[in-house]
Amino acid sequence: MPGFELFGSAEQKEVHDVLDSGILMRYGFDAMRNGHWKAKELETELQKQMQVKHAQLVSSGTAAVSVALAIAGVGAGDEVILPTFTFVASFEAVLMLGAIPILVDIDDTLTLDIEAVKNAITTKTKAIMPVHMCGGMARLKELKQICETYGLKLIEDACQAIGGSYEGKPLGSYGDVGCFSFDFVKTITTGEGGAVITNNDDYATWADHYSDHGHDHQGSDRGAETHPFLGYNFRISELHAAVGLAQVRRLNDFIAIQKKHYTILKEALNSIPELTFRTIPEAGEENYSFINFFLPDLEITNSAMSALKTAGIDGCFHYYNNNWHYVREWNHLKEAKTLFPMPSQTKEALRALETKTFEQSDYFIARNISCLIKLSWTEDEVKLRASKMVEAIKSVL
Ligand SMILES: *Cc1c(COP(=O)(O)O)cnc(C)c1O
Repeated sequence: MPGFELFGSAEQKEVHDVLDSGILMRYGFDAMRNGHWKAKELETELQKQMQVKHAQLVSSGTAAVSVALAIAGVGAGDEVILPTFTFVASFEAVLMLGAIPILVDIDDTLTLDIEAVKNAITTKTKAIMPVHMCGGMARLKELKQICETYGLKLIEDACQAIGGSYEGKPLGSYGDVGCFSFDFVKTITTGEGGAVITNNDDYATWADHYSDHGHDHQGSDRGAETHPFLGYNFRISELHAAVGLAQVRRLNDFIAIQKKHYTILKEALNSIPELTFRTIPEAGEENYSFINFFLPDLEITNSAMSALKTAGIDGCFHYYNNNWHYVREWNHLKEAKTLFPMPSQTKEALRALETKTFEQSDYFIARNISCLIKLSWTEDEVKLRASKMVEAIKSVL
């Protein structure tokens, strides 16, 4: 799954361009940079590949989600609907803006349940943020309809699903804003980095300014630039962007390899009648970075995880007991533990999570196993892995 598996000479060449010129910053220093604008080039490449008008690189996926929410106007007291199964970054970004994360149940897509989303809408709701977990996607058509009905923004956290699509559109390009992460374990990596994509011209301008202290980027004298509004520093460096430039050019190849490996595993697992696969909404195509399936109950799933481990199968996750991805173990969130005072309405909303249960999410996550797909496997290795997985799982049924 991660691009670092196939890291090589293409990445090195791009980084050397930057080191040779000595200009590590993405803005300015025009005369000294030998024509190298890696961040700008990567943004252009992303626009092309993601079929959108604008792409803004930032320093991480978490920064991307924060910037996406900010340009969509999400702030103090606003509610953002997001799933119980995600990565901690999703609610961190909401909290950073003084907004309130509203966690709702997932369904067999491992993403937002449509009825749960509808039930969570209040007069304070500002945005819905589906998170396309483990390479699959949310029911985007239904979510877009809800957003249109209620006047909400649709912000796609596509950090785990770059290269997937929905109704023929790249994931991330379907809503008002889309977010990607290029951290070290994502499909494409820059070491650390992320991107925001949109077709909205205003959003693009605001993302550009907001991620660089509010700088308007007019003229060639950085010191003379004005600040139309307050911003932060979420800039990416040229070194990181250089790595990403080489990686993104190989995205289609990465996805093709993943699909090949995924297909071998899926065909093998299909021979287990008690096993069902995660639902991919109609019109969706995943990026094949994980293979996700359900077993009959929690006990069998726990046993299957042990059996897989004993068989030497690494890279399989049971998120039910995971500290990073599922609401059950997010005690720091439920107890609203912060280093500094938090808005009281946010704190109240978080404390309410301590007593809230998510039975429907538990029903799916307790029975789900998610196994990552590596790029570096040989075909024989995938076939051997497939047969070992089937044997291990059958042994506990
Ligand atoms: C990785 C990830 C992020 C955050 O990305 P970083 O680059 O690590 O900050 C956000 N959302 C999801 C779903 C992720 O998997």
